[in-house]
Amino acid sequence: MEERPAPKLYLTVPCYNEGSILRDSLRTLLEKLAQLQAAGLAGVQSAVLCIDDGSADDTWAIIAEAHRQAPTRVLGIKLSANCGHQKALLAGLMKAKEEADCAISIDADLQDDIDVLDDFLREYRLGVDIVYGVRSDRSSDSLPKRLSAEGFYHLMALMGAKVIFNHADYRLMSRQALQALSEYREVNLFLRGIVPLIGLRQSIVSYARKATARKTHYTLKKMLILAWDGVSSFSIRPIRMISLLGLLVMAASFLFILWYLYIKWTGAAVAGWTTLVILILALGSLQLLGIGLIGEYIGKIYLEVKRRPRYIVEDVLGGEEPRA
Ligand code: UDP
Ligand code: MG
Repeated sequence: MEERPAPKLYLTVPCYNEGSILRDSLRTLLEKLAQLQAAGLAGVQSAVLCIDDGSADDTWAIIAEAHRQAPTRVLGIKLSANCGHQKALLAGLMKAKEEADCAISIDADLQDDIDVLDDFLREYRLGVDIVYGVRSDRSSDSLPKRLSAEGFYHLMALMGAKVIFNHADYRLMSRQALQALSEYREVNLFLRGIVPLIGLRQSIVSYARKATARKTHYTLKKMLILAWDGVSSFSIRPIRMISLLGLLVMAASFLFILWYLYIKWTGAAVAGWTTLVILILALGSLQLLGIGLIGEYIGKIYLEVKRRPRYIVEDVLGGEEPRA
């Protein structure tokens, strides 16, 4: 296969209250970009695209100043309010989809090793559409962060969502992949769950993550919300568990009912007790099953209202050009 030419690359950086480090990060990213261009890996029109996610500090002023100094190399988007990392990132990716050949998303604190950007781009040039940065080493993370993060990937897998283990949002996406991403119109965004569904050619590049220079902006609350979004928007397994539980309880009650009837007939039960227990068990399990059943339908509705694309076409041979 022929190598792709050096792409016009947008480094997409969501920034929320990054005033303390953004100048340094931008300088580092611009230097890296120049290196990538010199090495023939990134095209001349490549740029750093910062998305200010409704910061309360001077983040936007810093982006604007950098843009004035290098109008073609630093671009900015300002969101009207704090929408969260995933949505900020999406805003950037959607601009990249219109203007660039590929986008690489990276956190503003540059915890993710920027020296693997070369590998990302090499993969891209070989024809890969989605390259995941996967952390080979978490030794820079505190123990609670490490445990919660790894627990999260296990939970996701258990709940049936397809995620790449130890991949956060450090990844390259080609324009075609971005185009496909834009067809997922759901509001509760969990990019790490959606991107693997896109298909196309995917590969992995591994790297060690550094310690951050500031404290995390992913508070425990934001992390839990993200995790729940991840589970609840990719799987209706929790609902199915209720239905299953209902069935199990029902089967168990049936056995109990036989047992209580036996006790009654052997004359060992207090009058009225058997009827009461049987009623409680039967109604309880019926209700659980009923809730599960309703849940199944709600789950279906939920999957439907997201209006996800049913398929994504990678290539077409023959036929007519779409009419203008
Ligand atoms: N971020 C954002 N909106 C938010 C929270 C975070 O855009 O509401 C950005 C933040 O500026 C950074 C990235 O998301 O670029 C990851 O945040 P952080 O480094 O604090 O997360 P961690 O590395 O601890 O997971
Ligand atoms: Mg960080």
